[in-house]
Amino acid sequence: MPFCDHKCIYCDFYSIITKDNIDNYISSLKREIENYSKQLNGKNIISIFFGGGTPSLLTPNHINEILLFIKSNFNLDTKAEITLETNPGTVDNRKLSEFRDIGINRISIGVQSFNDNDLKFLTRIHNKQTAVDTIKSADKAGFENINIDLIFSIPKQNKDIWEENLELAAALPVKHISAYSLILEKGTILNKMVLDGKIKLKDEDYDASQYEHTIDFLTSHGFEQYEVSNFCKPGFECVHNLSYWEHKNYIGFGPSAHSFVDNKRWWNFSSLKMYMSSVELKDSAVRGSEELTKKELEQEFIMLALRSRGLNLNILKKMYGNEWISVNNNYINKLVEDGFIIWSDNFIKFTKAGYLLCDEILLKFQ
Ligand code: SF4
Repeated sequence: MPFCDHKCIYCDFYSIITKDNIDNYISSLKREIENYSKQLNGKNIISIFFGGGTPSLLTPNHINEILLFIKSNFNLDTKAEITLETNPGTVDNRKLSEFRDIGINRISIGVQSFNDNDLKFLTRIHNKQTAVDTIKSADKAGFENINIDLIFSIPKQNKDIWEENLELAAALPVKHISAYSLILEKGTILNKMVLDGKIKLKDEDYDASQYEHTIDFLTSHGFEQYEVSNFCKPGFECVHNLSYWEHKNYIGFGPSAHSFVDNKRWWNFSSLKMYMSSVELKDSAVRGSEELTKKELEQEFIMLALRSRGLNLNILKKMYGNEWISVNNNYINKLVEDGFIIWSDNFIKFTKAGYLLCDEILLKFQ
């Protein structure tokens, strides 16, 4: 759902701030969905994720129209996880209840921070109170499965402010937290501000200390870390995210959406206009595609598994043979010795120290 109220300074997702086209867009979306349903007949759908953009800018009727269309075109598991990304300031009690009534069973709220100065800096439309009210309203509307996104290492956000964020998050009815450090993406307003010397980002040591503290805080407050940046109460892992990390098939609809089915990856035009005219012409809007080699698939499988819940070597062997483990045996043993990895029962998993250095460690595997 590419529609947003405005463009946040740090965001590099494709989004537009006009909402004139919603009805026509939904028609295009339905054509694209129908087209894929013919090609991928028989696949069982275990999760749907309305992401964006700001899907909660749409009405519950709009979302329901799409949901019903998916249900009539695919085999949707009766227990499917159905998430809607929501921004504080775009929903009220009634709208959240209506989203619940149409079958949305997981809500992901773009809080980013509970600190008003942080929120102003990030150019978000909400403040702390709106964020807290949105979480409470979602809870009241019957959403048991609530995620919030939080960002640390925001300029001027000190350790105390981040601590207050974590404390408030843990005190609210939240089952899942995605905690990311502020990342500088090319082409964003923030990137220009940094290049122009108007803003200085936090240094790596500060960032690492905040990340480490986040892990300590959340794991001592009932959350499990099940991916580098994702934490949940037991049983509330995001089915949708796990599918990405477990290399399962997924289909993305809409501008800029990516798909991965049977080892092939493709992506759509990152422009609403081009997306809609392409769907009009050929019922699809594919901008590019690639077929992954066995080696690429293996490396991706390993990287995604290690970044999340760990790598099952029995499964790896069954899918890709024994080569990776033989080639990297010494390096893995060294990582175990140095306390970065736990290796037991044919399963390898990052420790907290490993998660901290995971990108560096992953680069050194052959
Ligand atoms: S609301 Fe989200 S998707 Fe929209 S511009 Fe801001 S960060 Fe990007």
